[in-house]
Amino acid sequence: MNILVLGPQGSGKGTQAKRIKAMYGIPHIATGDMLREMRELDTPVARELRAVLDRGDLVDDGLMIELIRDRLARGDTVGGFVLDGFPRTMAQAEALDELLRELGRELDIVFDLQVPKREMLLERLLRRAAEEGRADDTPEVIGRRLELYESETAPLVDYYRTHQANVVGIHADRSVDEVFHEVERSLESVEARA
Ligand code: ADP
Repeated sequence: MNILVLGPQGSGKGTQAKRIKAMYGIPHIATGDMLREMRELDTPVARELRAVLDRGDLVDDGLMIELIRDRLARGDTVGGFVLDGFPRTMAQAEALDELLRELGRELDIVFDLQVPKREMLLERLLRRAAEEGRADDTPEVIGRRLELYESETAPLVDYYRTHQANVVGIHADRSVDEVFHEVERSLESVEARA
């Protein structure tokens, strides 16, 4: 099953993606985690990356597309994958379509995790900041990331609605278990159709 999870920072995307991974035994491809690993290297690219991440800006589309191209080419994705954090821009969404076409694959389902209240997102992100101490989790940088989500990434939901029938909106302002229950139900109905 090829799964894409969309949703703002703090919507619980990563948490749900990890549960899908555990349940279905498919790799969880989280670009944020990949970038946080890369930023620790001692190279000029890593230095540049640290600056971009610490500002809460988006990493260059070209670099992200290369990263995903390499990752999807790996054998462990053949039985499916859950993509989290990519695409984040229209250019990335178009590149992903092209990439999947080349690989002869397509997305089976796109989850859109919705949290209508910005305050709830902020609250969750600030709590995570306190727990994990991520460098890009300061209040200013969080604000910047949410803004970029609204302007660059939220429009992708409509893109997938028009290009791809199977977009499932999920109210994510509920408990992890309740949200996952709905995720599971949707995945079961996709499986039943296959
Ligand atoms: P969050 O969703 O909470 O912002 P992530 O761990 O998904 O956290 O991403 C952390 C940072 O990595 C983002 O703020 C952004 O700078 C960068 N990043 C991750 N994925 C992408 C992407 N597809 N395109 C551009 N930048 C990205």
